[in-house]
Amino acid sequence: MQTIRGFRDILPESIALWQKIEKEAVQLFTAFGFKEIRIPVIEKTQLFARSIGEATDIVEKEMYTFADRKGDLLTLRPEGTASIVRSYVQHKMYASDPVRRFFTIGPMFRRERPQKGRYRQFYQIDVEVFGIASAYMDSQLIFMLNELFLRLGLTDLSAHINSLGCQECRPAFQTALLNFISSKKDQLCENCLRRVDKNPLRILDCKTPSCKAALENAPATLDHLCKDCEDHFNTVKTNLKKQGVAFIEDRSLVRGLDYYTRTAWEIQTTALGAQSAVAGGGRYDGLVKEIGGPATPGIGFAIGFDRLVEVMEQMGNLPEELPLDLFIVAMGDDAMEKCYHWSCELNQKGICTEMDFGSKSMKALMKRADKLNAQYVLIAGETELAQDAVILRNMNTKEQVTVPTQTLISELTRILKNNDIKK
Ligand code: AMP
Repeated sequence: MQTIRGFRDILPESIALWQKIEKEAVQLFTAFGFKEIRIPVIEKTQLFARSIGEATDIVEKEMYTFADRKGDLLTLRPEGTASIVRSYVQHKMYASDPVRRFFTIGPMFRRERPQKGRYRQFYQIDVEVFGIASAYMDSQLIFMLNELFLRLGLTDLSAHINSLGCQECRPAFQTALLNFISSKKDQLCENCLRRVDKNPLRILDCKTPSCKAALENAPATLDHLCKDCEDHFNTVKTNLKKQGVAFIEDRSLVRGLDYYTRTAWEIQTTALGAQSAVAGGGRYDGLVKEIGGPATPGIGFAIGFDRLVEVMEQMGNLPEELPLDLFIVAMGDDAMEKCYHWSCELNQKGICTEMDFGSKSMKALMKRADKLNAQYVLIAGETELAQDAVILRNMNTKEQVTVPTQTLISELTRILKNNDIKK
């Protein structure tokens, strides 16, 4: 049996980096006042269709949708924002305190063509804020995201930011765009032609080379912003400049989801071959209302966890493998029983031990201790135990000492907790 295409196992050998990233992210987000929320991986299809948009690639082509036994249409979540908005509305969080800051980490599912950095089950680190309309929130999120990447040692990334306007200025932009498109129709792909009436903004997101070429000089939202959107965008840029966060104003950035308003951004890298995004986000001031809540501003971003791991692996930015503290060699039944209890007690105290519960030879066990890169080996042989003692071997210096069983736990805790390598 094999995993299905686009799905993969993340094996223990590579998990240290995932854990390091997750730890850094949780620490940082917590300091910025974010709380974790956990949401289901399956929702009603309608939730995603309504929020992400019927005429988007995700909803049209990429969702894992199926009818359950009662015939209800369900979908494996392709992203996290829609579910968090659903949760905010369902639990009427706005009533007690409309201002909420959330993060969540977990798998998303999109039926895209698998390639390097693109999977059908992938992981996102997702951050969302509700109830804050100010541009300070936008710059703070971008600042926080930038800070996370700095802490992880990433230097070769570029932040692209744009403003997509709001309900006020979008119609004028849309008219200008439609006028432009009407002269280019013969150069557009079938998908784009279908979207002319349904959702013209999506055409700007088309990856087909001929469409990209035809739309090179298409009108940009930035040229049609209303005064409020312009002020908002200027504040975001001014704040980022003052904070030393480098960014590129990218008027062609539209993002692949319908719900964005005003600020949208992507953190891009060339480390994985073609230019690709390791994170993306934006403001979505209309979404809470769309999902049935009161008009509430919202903004968030998602980091592509798999891609972040791949970029760091490529940089050789890997956490050090922690060696095994202690390998226990028990010779004989009596030793086995004693060692079993010592081993559990040491584990309780946070010391990592391993012992073989079988009856292998001393030679085989020492070989295994070497393979596991054990720092110390405890040898409990019948002769030593008869004198209530065991041997402790330092595998680096090859020194051996005899330790009385009575003080064994306290002695081992002292030695291993002060272990230089572990510190
Ligand atoms: P999005 O929800 O489309 O804005 O995506 C946010 C981030 O998730 C992107 O910047 C990517 O890093 C990552 N991502 C999106 N789709 C995939 C995928 N199929 N495989 C791996 N990462 C992905």
